Amino acid sequence: MRSTGDPTPGPEARLRDLPAMHQLLAHPAVRAWAEGEPPSLVKRALDLELEEARRRIRAGEEAALSPEALAERARRRFLALSRPVLRPVINATGVILHTNLGRAPLSEAALAAVAEVARGYSNLEFDLESGRRGSRHTLVSDLLRELTGAEDGFAVNNNAAAVLLALSALAGGREVLVSRGELIEIGGSFRIPDVMEQSGARLVEVGTTNRTRLGDFLRATGPETAAYLKVHPSNYRIVGFTQSVPLEELAAAAHERGLLALVDLGSGSLVDLGRLGLAHEPTVQEAVAAGADLVTFSGDKLLGGPQAGILVGRRELIERCRRHPLARAVRIDKMTVAALEATLAAYRRPEEVWRELPALAMLARPEEELRRRAERLARALEPHLGRERVQLLRGESRAGGGSLPEEPLPTWLVAIRVEEPQAAAARLRAGDPPVIVRLQEGRLLVDLRTVREAEEPVLEAALAGIPAP
Ligand SMILES: *Cc1c(COP(=O)(O)O)cnc(C)c1O
Repeated sequence: MRSTGDPTPGPEARLRDLPAMHQLLAHPAVRAWAEGEPPSLVKRALDLELEEARRRIRAGEEAALSPEALAERARRRFLALSRPVLRPVINATGVILHTNLGRAPLSEAALAAVAEVARGYSNLEFDLESGRRGSRHTLVSDLLRELTGAEDGFAVNNNAAAVLLALSALAGGREVLVSRGELIEIGGSFRIPDVMEQSGARLVEVGTTNRTRLGDFLRATGPETAAYLKVHPSNYRIVGFTQSVPLEELAAAAHERGLLALVDLGSGSLVDLGRLGLAHEPTVQEAVAAGADLVTFSGDKLLGGPQAGILVGRRELIERCRRHPLARAVRIDKMTVAALEATLAAYRRPEEVWRELPALAMLARPEEELRRRAERLARALEPHLGRERVQLLRGESRAGGGSLPEEPLPTWLVAIRVEEPQAAAARLRAGDPPVIVRLQEGRLLVDLRTVREAEEPVLEAALAGIPAP
């Protein structure tokens, strides 16, 4: 209780004046919103606000705080804490396979398959013909054979796991030769040398950063060599005076010496992106046809499916990977199998797949359509933000996810001039749903390539609310 006769109580007195938890819980201003709500979450919200009040009082930032004011702050905190931690966001960056934003959105068919399988039981590891135990590691094998031309294949948790498993199972304790130009790091945590070390295979670097010839591989080959590994440089490109060994040559040389030719394709597209006017990316089928014994690639990059790492290749090698103890540790879950099967099945229809899989549809989105949508959005925003603040710009989208690193995709951007771009972007991120935009020289840039048409009204409302400078 507040000491009487002291007009300006010091911090100590004000700290003592803060109500205790049990008093707050019984206070009508708290009960008004907390009744019937989960007690642990109510307490956490109150706790956090009490803690914050104490901090502010000690820092001299807070005068006396009524229980009503505390209750109101706790109510807002409670609402924020009640929202799921993992939430949908609007990706207005134009980066299609944005790793931080969950990479490839799933197709309707994949979503339906997940819901169907996850709601009840499934034959995940049950052979319906024999009634005996089956293997989850063979569920998408037929589809992978059909689509890639490989003898066999299966999927694990992600491509990093696929590479680790392949190296462990096929080259553990022996040497694997990799070009120095392909010793890549992806997303800060996947580094070929580190993965190699984990697998127990010994990395032998050959060639130089910009040039590696077949002779470099041959000279480094010895009795301990198990495989040549080719890694797709994914998120960077060496330009200028460069040379690398074509897969056909590398595979032929490996086979002559009884060695394996392994390929980490990274993104691993099943379709020719050349038809979009983009540089040709080696497809999985091409890598298999070129003689690779085993190819690994991601499920959620250009393939457009769920997070997964796919291994395809020679039957005997795939079987060794399946049987390796690590395969159990990196196995995929039934929801992933469902989504992956539906995603792969879409590739059976080579024309429809460009519409069915969102990632491919976004890649293929015509510039004219992007321009029309951007124009409409810009016009709708003008009355709210002022004509002079809104501009239509030609720009570039990106595939992202370490795919097509140098390939700009022409797009149209809505550019919004703001006084404090950082603050405006933070405000958009704090919205519901959060909106993620690009920042550039005092402007927010909105790229509709990665925004679904159904999201446009919400996006428009969020952008219209940007405060005037
Ligand atoms: C992205 C990538 C990986 C990692 O794949 P994840 O599915 O993210 O684990 C490995 N190798 C290459 C070449 C890549 O591009």
